Amino acid sequence: MAPSATDILPTVSNGTNGFAHIKKYKDRSNLVPFASRLKDGRALAQDVWSIFNAVNLPSDCINLGQGYMNFPPPQWVKDAAGEALATTATNHYSHPKGRLRLREAIKKVYGPLLGRDLDVENEIQVTSGANEGTLYSVFTAFLEPGDEVIMFEPFFDQYLPSVVFNGGVPVYVPLHPDLSGERPTSDDWKIDFDELARAITPRTKMIIVNTPHNPVGKVFTREELEKIAALAEQHNLIVMSDEVYDFLVFDNKEHVRIATLPGMWDRTVTVGSAGKLFSATGWRVGWLIAPASIIRPTLAACTRIVFCSNSPLQEAAAVGLEQIEERGYLAQTVKEYDERRLTLTSAFDKLGMTYSHPEGSYFVLLDISSVHWPENYPFPESLQGRGRDFNRACWFIAMEVGVSSIPVSEFYCEEHCSIGESYARFAFCKDVDTLKQAAERLQNLKRFLR
Ligand code: PMP
Repeated sequence: MAPSATDILPTVSNGTNGFAHIKKYKDRSNLVPFASRLKDGRALAQDVWSIFNAVNLPSDCINLGQGYMNFPPPQWVKDAAGEALATTATNHYSHPKGRLRLREAIKKVYGPLLGRDLDVENEIQVTSGANEGTLYSVFTAFLEPGDEVIMFEPFFDQYLPSVVFNGGVPVYVPLHPDLSGERPTSDDWKIDFDELARAITPRTKMIIVNTPHNPVGKVFTREELEKIAALAEQHNLIVMSDEVYDFLVFDNKEHVRIATLPGMWDRTVTVGSAGKLFSATGWRVGWLIAPASIIRPTLAACTRIVFCSNSPLQEAAAVGLEQIEERGYLAQTVKEYDERRLTLTSAFDKLGMTYSHPEGSYFVLLDISSVHWPENYPFPESLQGRGRDFNRACWFIAMEVGVSSIPVSEFYCEEHCSIGESYARFAFCKDVDTLKQAAERLQNLKRFLR
């Protein structure tokens, strides 16, 4: 399109015909303003992920900041993906509900866990990863502008933009850490139920429960879930139960599905992820399990957002679930993650640092308040304005010992960020050799501890 008169700033004329201006255009990089929801949803802020991105860190830095695996999916699941790619039908559109084979496989695995004979036509929805399912389509389906969604802090950072993009208002309720005991665990991050009750207003529509929890590793107890359920019942709330780490529960801790508590099936949407379960986060296959009253509107939203999730990898996820039991996959996976967890936490034990021993998921929160750095240490500009010292501690650890982590304050709203600010999140979804190397490097922190 031709520039309009106001876009052109005449600067110099050659004085011959009066028309030969050397034209200089105004900055046109933001000609049409973008929607304010991007800003409100913190989607444009320079976030912690871009600051702690590998490109900003030493090239050999071991990345325990981001929660992606550095090992492949199981061979038999990869083989199933290859077969699906070699088959014509599975390269084409799926039904927006998801491929029937995958819905059947979800029913087979999750029906007994939920104590229900799941209806594959009306109670299961396949999504493009839990992100699209949890975060987007359910909010699109249920939120009216101004509806409030309660989330426990620290929270998985996708919740916020997805609520805001759909007109919702996030309401934050912090988990309170008390790690003063002998051997603190993720269970020492507690909900103040009076605070939770006070956060509920006539506009509250939904509450997000994430168990096992990212980043705390907390596995919500039956008692905690019963209390949340009672509030949901009292105030007629939908519970979004994000259980993408449901297969990673350690120390014989019980993973309680809130949908199984009395009366809760009717108001709960349970979220799962093939990406987490089969170490295939890039496949973008997830699912929702809920009553038809929740799945029907969510399916309508999903159909308009992505139409359907990718077909061949749905097929592979189906094979994964179909064979999960006969291959003893879950027990083996927990065993492997347990070893990874121990490799990392032993390094913290050796340093004498405080951390909360995670009972679920693949994150450890380390108390980094004892880390000290030289006064004139050259921190980058991007950290200067961020106020909280703990971003700097994470940066310092990454630069000096070559292991990156993520400051937990990033998973809180401004008002509450001091609650978890002395913790850094380390992900242990890496092979044991990498974790051993990280553990060795971390010992170099000793000289910076006070
Ligand atoms: N919920 C939580 C708590 C997560 O940690 C993640 C991934 N980091 C997701 C949902 C998204 O899962 P998916 O990759 O299947 O979209």
